[in-house]
Amino acid sequence: MNIDINEFLREMRPHVRRFVMERMEPISRAMDSGGELPQSAFEELRNQGYLGMRLPTSEGGGGFDLSTYCLVMEELSRSHRIYTLMLDASSGLTPIAISKFGTPDQKNKFLPKLSSGEWVASFALTEPEAGSDAAAIKTSAKKDDAGWVLNGVKHYISWAHRAQVILVIALTDPIKKAKGGISAFLVEKNTPGMNIVRVDKTIGSDAIELAEIHFTDCFIANDAMIGQVGEGFGIAMSSLTAGRMGVSAACLGAADRLIELATEHVQSRITFGQALSQRQAIQWMLADSATELAVARALAYETLRQIDAGSDPGIAPNMVKLYCSEMVGRVADRAVQIFGGSGLIRGFNVERFYRDVRHYRIGEGSSEIQRMLIAKDLFKSNHSSKR
Ligand SMILES: Cc1cc2nc3c(=O)[nH]c(=O)nc-3n(C[C@H](O)[C@H](O)[C@H](O)COP(=O)(O)OP(=O)(O)OC[C@H]3O[C@@H](n4cnc5c(N)ncnc54)[C@H](O)[C@@H]3O)c2cc1C
Repeated sequence: MNIDINEFLREMRPHVRRFVMERMEPISRAMDSGGELPQSAFEELRNQGYLGMRLPTSEGGGGFDLSTYCLVMEELSRSHRIYTLMLDASSGLTPIAISKFGTPDQKNKFLPKLSSGEWVASFALTEPEAGSDAAAIKTSAKKDDAGWVLNGVKHYISWAHRAQVILVIALTDPIKKAKGGISAFLVEKNTPGMNIVRVDKTIGSDAIELAEIHFTDCFIANDAMIGQVGEGFGIAMSSLTAGRMGVSAACLGAADRLIELATEHVQSRITFGQALSQRQAIQWMLADSATELAVARALAYETLRQIDAGSDPGIAPNMVKLYCSEMVGRVADRAVQIFGGSGLIRGFNVERFYRDVRHYRIGEGSSEIQRMLIAKDLFKSNHSSKR
């Protein structure tokens, strides 16, 4: 089924796909045996104009809308999850927050280097005792004559050990908390008092690394604050919709590739004298995967259309994130089953996708949190009038 967001993107897709398969796929294969983050991947994405693509052109970005960003995200995800993180580090939450809420000095200092991929940005919200319940953070920022002093712990922060700048969300008023008591700060690498104490690997690809950061009397100047005092929670939440749509696009791309790989495999794999493709049990697994992918695409693309047209998509981005992340989990599971033993062997694409897609049901708001928000929306008194 040929579903696309609009005519422009329908024409753009084959070009992006060709670039990904010709230029990025060889890097993906080499990367999995090494685990190191390849600089060549940043170069390729930069040359193609994909880094910083959502930032305004006046700030060195590409000025593309969310739909175009998601199309690139989807196509990159067909090759390797790591590229979607590169896109996010240059054009995701932290760069967009600087673009939307930063001062002219902050924009001039950070955006050109982030949008070119020369620098990497991280976003530090999660703490050992505050994950889904983000408003429960304890990292504090206390006012000092000349600036602010940070104390606390952040963990599971993607690429914080590689980042030149980290957007840190901290408590400035423990009474007000999320209602005006949380602020956002741009903390630069090597700031005294900020220490990366551990780097965790996940079940996903080795190049996906999460760092634990300790702030111990870490002094930062007044001009490190982004937005106003008390606006931090809003800043952190302001990119949620785009983040969820980006993750959903990555799920679509991974599912699409897995179906492609499985479809190819079953046509050449012979068991009991016949190709697997002739077996109804196998056909049904592929049919279910293709149907679920088409449903996910239709929902995601319609939501993107509404967002880029300036309409309020309501709870739809949460539904998209929930459905796409669960859909790709089922598709990956079926793909492993279809590949049999080779679906579990390291070095084959399928097992890597299977491990990498597991994160999508947890990051950017877990499935349970999405369901909680969708149900809350249902219980709103004016729900029936909105349908
Ligand atoms: C690969 C990866 C990258 C990450 N990158 C970043 C990053 O760059 N920056 C950052 O700040 N954080 C990052 N995180 C952290 C991530 O945002 C959190 O792991 C996520 O928000 C879940 O929080 P938690 O791990 O504390 O789980 P918890 O909040 O403890 O949740 C545990 C389980 O309980 C469920 N649950 C929680 N509350 C409820 C409820 N009320 N009702 C029903 N079920 C509930 C959850 O859905 C989950 O299944 C990353 C995590 C991973 C794994």
